[in-house]
Amino acid sequence: RIVYVNGKFLPEEDAKISVFDRGFLFADAVYEVSSVLNGKLIDNEGHMWRLKRSLDELEMQHPASAEEIETIQKTLIEKNGIEEGLVYLQVTRGAADRDFTYPANTKPSLVMFTQKKNLLESPQAKVGITVITSPDIRWQRRDIKTVSLLAASMAKMQAKAAGADDAWLVEDGFVTEGSSSNAYIVTQDGTVVTRHLGNEILAGITRKAALRLAEEEGIKIEERSFTVDEALAAAEAFVTSATTFVTPVVSIDGQKIGDGTPGPIAQKLRGIYMEEALKAS
Ligand code: PLP
Repeated sequence: RIVYVNGKFLPEEDAKISVFDRGFLFADAVYEVSSVLNGKLIDNEGHMWRLKRSLDELEMQHPASAEEIETIQKTLIEKNGIEEGLVYLQVTRGAADRDFTYPANTKPSLVMFTQKKNLLESPQAKVGITVITSPDIRWQRRDIKTVSLLAASMAKMQAKAAGADDAWLVEDGFVTEGSSSNAYIVTQDGTVVTRHLGNEILAGITRKAALRLAEEEGIKIEERSFTVDEALAAAEAFVTSATTFVTPVVSIDGQKIGDGTPGPIAQKLRGIYMEEALKAS
C-alpha cells in the first residue's frame, strides 16, 4: 500500500513520523475520513470545510490548501486502485521538544492513507445494528475532530463485550451521538430527531446531507436532545457517518426499536443518500 507523508508518496513500510510528533505525544492532531465510491470522493468539500474548522479551533497551521489536499487524496486513490473504500487524512501540529504549550512555528505534518472497504453492500445496513448505551466520558470539545479517540474505543469495546455492534453515548440522560457516528430517532408520528449542533457532538458531514435529504422528502425534523427513554419508545433509530452512510439501529440495550427490523424512514434515507452519492461519484 502506498501512503502519503509530508510531501512524499511511499510504500507504507518506508513512511516515517518523528517520535517527537505532537500527534503521537499529545493527540495534538485532527483528522478526516472521506468515503470513496467508484474511485471518487464523496462529500469531500464538507470534509475539507470541517478540517479547516478543526485546525482553526486549535490554532494549528494548515499544511496545505484544500485544493492541494484533494489532489493528494485523488493521487492516493489512484495509486492504490481504490474503487470503494476511504481516504484517511491526519494533520498534526508537528514535531517539537515535549512541552504542554504549543511550540511556535512547528511545521504541521500531513499523513494520508487509503483503505479498501465494501461500503455499498454492507451486511450491517441490511439487518441494522444493535447498540448499548454508555456514559459519554469524552472531553467537552467534541465538535473538533481530534485523534483523541480512546474514550470512543473504550465504548466500542464495551459494546462488543456486551454482544452489541456499537455504543450510543449518554450525558445527563441525553444521547449525544454514537461512538463514531451521529444518532437519530424517529418518533411514533414520523419526526426525525437528532441532537442539535454544539460543542457536545461532531457536526457530521453525513448528518448535514441526511437532514437536507429528509427535508426535501418532506420529513419533519427536530434538532434537539433526546433521552434514552425516548429512544427506547421510538418507532425507528439510525446512525450516520461518512463510511456507513445511513445505518438502521434495531435495538438499544437489548430492547427492540419498533419491530426490531430496519425502519422505513432509515431505509428510505439510506437509499436516497446512496443514490445521490453514486450520481456524484
Ligand atoms: N460523530 C463522531 C464522534 C464521529 O467520529 C463521526 C465520524 O467519524 C461522526 C459523528 C460522523 O461524522 P461524518 O458524517 O462527518 O463522518
